[in-house]
Amino acid sequence: MGWLLKQGKNTLYWTIPEWTSFGVRLAFSTIQGGQSTGSYSSLNLGLHVNDNPRNVLKNRKLFLAEFGCSLDDCIAAEQIHGTKVQIVTAEQKKSGMYDYADSIPACDGLLTTDPLLGLMAFFADCVPLYFYCPRTKIIGLAHAGWRGTVNNIAKEMLDKLKLAGASAAECQVAIGPSIGACCYQVSSDVAAIFREKFGNPPFLTPAEQGKFHLDLKEANRYLLISEGVLPKNIISSDLCTFCQAEYFYSFRRAQVTGRMAAFIIRQDCEQRGGSIIDVQNSQEKT
Ligand SMILES: [Zn+2]
Repeated sequence: MGWLLKQGKNTLYWTIPEWTSFGVRLAFSTIQGGQSTGSYSSLNLGLHVNDNPRNVLKNRKLFLAEFGCSLDDCIAAEQIHGTKVQIVTAEQKKSGMYDYADSIPACDGLLTTDPLLGLMAFFADCVPLYFYCPRTKIIGLAHAGWRGTVNNIAKEMLDKLKLAGASAAECQVAIGPSIGACCYQVSSDVAAIFREKFGNPPFLTPAEQGKFHLDLKEANRYLLISEGVLPKNIISSDLCTFCQAEYFYSFRRAQVTGRMAAFIIRQDCEQRGGSIIDVQNSQEKT
């Protein structure tokens, strides 16, 4: 199992049907099914990349409708490649959803216990990390580029989860599509920062011209396991946002481009009227 491609009513997105049995829906959007044009074609969900905001809001509406949600149900943060994690509540509903300026400020990880609240974050190569604790019912979503990874936002998320009563060993974690080691080379300077923190980690391998391949998804898996998350509770994607241009925007491939969204919400609230993910109609693809 793991990540599967699903054709929704409007858009094409990736999801993990197994998480439905935990009572959670999660998704990672593709570029398909939206109304943006040019470099942003077509399902750009980022408001901060100079696309026409009216199209972005239409796209967000189309994507969230797949889960019976609207923009009013969700929260997004101003992602700054930091490690700050914040617990959010219904009082902050709509933050960052209609206007980038009112995003939760300077924050790369969100957690909530609210069963009606969806969390969103935006990506074009960085790693989305989804968290769920089945006992406390806390959901979380983090954005980890190389800075967030080396500074260990995964640990910050787990520390906040622990403060809220969860333990790492009971958490389910999903690692979504991001740039793969195949396409992600970093300078020796960046490699040195990782080596200083993690010794000679398996996710950093030599490439040509003194550069290094960095496997960001594997790095986050390694850090999660170091903090006590059980390997069997981690589902990681092997999709590369740079290679797979039919599905993904990639900042490394084109600097002026759109953003995919990661989305997570509890689904034990049928009053929203969304349908349960139909696994049989999912196109199997990992
Ligand atoms: Zn690749």
